[in-house]
Amino acid sequence: MVKYDTVLIRFGELSTKGKNRKDFINRLYSNVKYMLRDFESLEYRKAYDRIYIRIHDEDPAAISEKLKKVFGISSFSFTEKVDSDLQAITDTCLRIAQETDKKTFKIITKRHDKNFPMRSDAINRACAGAILSNTDLKVDVHNPELAIRIEVHANDTYITSEKIPGAGGYPAGINGKVLLLLSGGIDSPVAAYELMKRGLMVEAVHFASPPYTSEAARNKVLTLASMVSEYQGHMHVHIINFTDLQLNIYKTAGDPYAVTLMRRMMFRLAEETAKKYGCLALGTGESIGQVASQTLESIACINDVIRIPVIRPLVCFDKVEIIDLARKIGTYETSILPFEDCCTIFDPKNPVTKPSIEKSEYYETLFDYKKGIQEAMDSMETVIVSPEKNDEEFL
Ligand code: ATP
Ligand code: MG
Repeated sequence: MVKYDTVLIRFGELSTKGKNRKDFINRLYSNVKYMLRDFESLEYRKAYDRIYIRIHDEDPAAISEKLKKVFGISSFSFTEKVDSDLQAITDTCLRIAQETDKKTFKIITKRHDKNFPMRSDAINRACAGAILSNTDLKVDVHNPELAIRIEVHANDTYITSEKIPGAGGYPAGINGKVLLLLSGGIDSPVAAYELMKRGLMVEAVHFASPPYTSEAARNKVLTLASMVSEYQGHMHVHIINFTDLQLNIYKTAGDPYAVTLMRRMMFRLAEETAKKYGCLALGTGESIGQVASQTLESIACINDVIRIPVIRPLVCFDKVEIIDLARKIGTYETSILPFEDCCTIFDPKNPVTKPSIEKSEYYETLFDYKKGIQEAMDSMETVIVSPEKNDEEFL
């Protein structure tokens, strides 16, 4: 029996060298350990271009599911570790071939230690020879059903017949902090996932309008945050009371411009919050054309009130693509729970689709919005969520 005892992790997008490379690997290493924290007997080793984990008696399928969620991994394999000795290597390759029901194969050897006395193609031929003489498998170098990979290092050699795709991207947290506007909807949790995948540490700001929005709606947002926090370990969620600003907007601007003004206020508050917590950009779940406030004219008019960059990872995604992603990361079912949010309660009937900056600025002279912004900032409350705080605790 082949005993796959070591996970070998390969890194993605790693063209950098020196300190950046070190930071990348160190962060990936700690993120991997964090993701696998429930498997107590794992033994880790970090090398220049790989991470190795001895799995002992832990469940490989469960480990695999978790590793697929770690950004920065390009692929990983469950391998059998043997001594760097040709006999041991060929024996393991032969056992893999004997246990498979595949018909064609190929051996792919990589020598990480150039002192090994044989070249890669000689190792390939020795192992293929053993398989050809002892099984019915045939070689197919172009499209093999079974690819046996051999990585030869100074003392140890790792052999595997599978290569599992990783999540790609950069290790979460390596590229700085971004402040995501997090609603209880479908899009913004997916945006969180995409931002984290680029290696950004995501903090969230949420605007709540109690008593028009309920405690349940707020908890739904925290639950979504805790779900996506799994990819980075934890998440700070800043909750801002938006009620007074919103009521004032409705009183002074009325229906068509309400959403535009509301979103201009949200952006102002988010920019202040970002500055306060050292986030260099905002993130949103906006997607061009999806609703009235997401036409190009609306986006321009809303964006006009701030200077901080805004990252919109979903800007060119179709709704169906976003929903597929929400399903994949597990947030969809929570996102569609029917709790009101501050936008659904004050849902205007005829929102402008081409708002003008001049009109928006005019409406904003009709009430003391700066005071409203200050009071809203003062109302901020910060909750730190983690994957351990799951649905039951919030809902
Ligand atoms: P979502 O599904 O993310 O709620 P949406 O399609 O409903 O998005 P909008 O309600 O227009 O679209 O919101 C666009 C973006 O604005 C959201 O993706 C989110 O980033 C931000 N946003 C909306 N409402 C709130 C809120 N109450 N608190 C924080 N951010 C919000
Ligand atoms: Mg929404």
